[in-house]
Amino acid sequence: MTDTQEQVDLLVIGGGINGAGIAADAAGRGLNVMLVEKGDLASGTSSWSTKLIHGGLRYLEFYEFGLVRKALLERDVLTKAAPHLIKPIAFNIPQLPTSRPAIMLRAGLFLYDFLAKSSIFKRSRAISFASPNSPLRKGISKGFEYWDAQVDDSRLVILNAQQAARNGAAIAPYTECVGLEQSGEGWRVKLRSTAANSATPSERTIEARAVVNAAGPWVARLLAKLFGKKPPLDTRLVKGSHIIVPKLHEGAQAFMLQHTDGRVIFVIPYLDHYSLIGTTEAEYDGALEKVEISDEETDYLIAVSNAYFAKQLERSDVVSTYSGVRPLIDEEGKDATKVSRDYHIERHAAHSSLLSIYGGKVTTYRTLAEDVMGTLAAVFPQMGGSWTKAVALPGGDFESTQGLLSQIKSAAPWADPDSINRWLQTYGSDTLAMLSGVDSRAGLGEEFGAGLCAREVDYLIDVEWARCAEDILWRRTKLGYEFEKLEPSAVERLDHYIHQRLADLVPA
Ligand code: FAD
Repeated sequence: MTDTQEQVDLLVIGGGINGAGIAADAAGRGLNVMLVEKGDLASGTSSWSTKLIHGGLRYLEFYEFGLVRKALLERDVLTKAAPHLIKPIAFNIPQLPTSRPAIMLRAGLFLYDFLAKSSIFKRSRAISFASPNSPLRKGISKGFEYWDAQVDDSRLVILNAQQAARNGAAIAPYTECVGLEQSGEGWRVKLRSTAANSATPSERTIEARAVVNAAGPWVARLLAKLFGKKPPLDTRLVKGSHIIVPKLHEGAQAFMLQHTDGRVIFVIPYLDHYSLIGTTEAEYDGALEKVEISDEETDYLIAVSNAYFAKQLERSDVVSTYSGVRPLIDEEGKDATKVSRDYHIERHAAHSSLLSIYGGKVTTYRTLAEDVMGTLAAVFPQMGGSWTKAVALPGGDFESTQGLLSQIKSAAPWADPDSINRWLQTYGSDTLAMLSGVDSRAGLGEEFGAGLCAREVDYLIDVEWARCAEDILWRRTKLGYEFEKLEPSAVERLDHYIHQRLADLVPA
């Protein structure tokens, strides 16, 4: 069945951080926007990152001062916009005899602080690891501390999609762009539903005045598929993997470990019980739908950790792993570790109505979106100006965490502290909307496990586009780690509930 009714100003292909950020910015400027994502929102690279909002201390070695400065400024902007999701975190850098000279690190950190000029993040300093409680191996006594921020990357995507929707954008997960042809000044875009339980026609055509291809690692492959020829600009696909192990150390700080090959590896406290260790960098030309860690990568990450931490890891300690592919611009002759992490906006048509996004970081998605809108100004001369810099993301509009905590506690005096804490960190001030009308523990409805109840699931279906258990357990929340400890029937029960609710929502 084909339906050709719909017309939009801007169609964005790809529901990762860049696509969602562009949709949010464009919708807030008054454009009629549609965002299409072939899987779930954030199911691509944007949920497989190291989860840092950072300037990228390492990029200073490659003289990427412009990128580091841009990313450091964004670190402040985003931390203010979503304080429930983005939190400052200290990084300790232990020094080994094989590390960079202390004077070089000192100079790099001085420059990092100078470029940031932050009012939120503390300045770097020299520190000692000589305490008997140090988690590091004997003999590691000196180092440095600097600050960056940790983020729940997939939720940042959801928040941007919500911001877009609140400004009138249509958000269409499980919808793949399968055809694109020029139609007058604009584009005719063929979309195909990829959801088994979809209520929309399986194929439909949209007329769009402009199209942004924000398909991440798929960007060049999609262009080749749609136009039947190699695109003018190719991507350099660089795989990065992480391992998750039981907590390696006490304390809220993360570690940046310098390896003998010159690379750095992060060990970051993760979800109360774990440490996240990553990442690797390896050229990749395999399937993008299922990217997995190799044994060599696992051994590499374990070896770096073991060179520093007293607690020695083995493969059997690895609780979980994940891998993603960086969609970088192809800079011929450059080693994968040195290819720029900055973004590039490619104009395909003289009148700028088709753009493709190459590269970029989670940290710089908002400035990328502003730059995209600047490029589209020729197509939409009447649209509004930049607006996202000083506006909170959904759930981020609260004065203090303590104040919000008190508000949630008085709205839900019956709720246990763990749930309140998790809701606050997940939904921020939108926790109050999620709990609206519930006046008792029983009012949350059926519990599926790990404190996840029907009320929260309904909310995630209704306002966050969740369509199956995986969408909820791994991207809207990280309760997947807790569900893995339960019987598989817990996930099946959740899936069954979601499918039932979605079926009930379909108009007869
Ligand atoms: P994606 O998130 O991949 O989104 C593209 C989307 O397009 C996908 O969801 C895909 O399903 C969809 N799509 C593809 N084809 C179609 C189609 N035909 N129709 C509809 N949808 C389609 N950055 C940081 O700032 N901090 C970090 O700590 C950090 N760590 C990283 C660690 C690793 C290992 C990697 C790989 C990257 C890291 N990055 C980090 C970079 C960052 O994760 C990426 O630059 C960013 O997520 C890219 O977002 P995106 O929206 O361009 O791509």
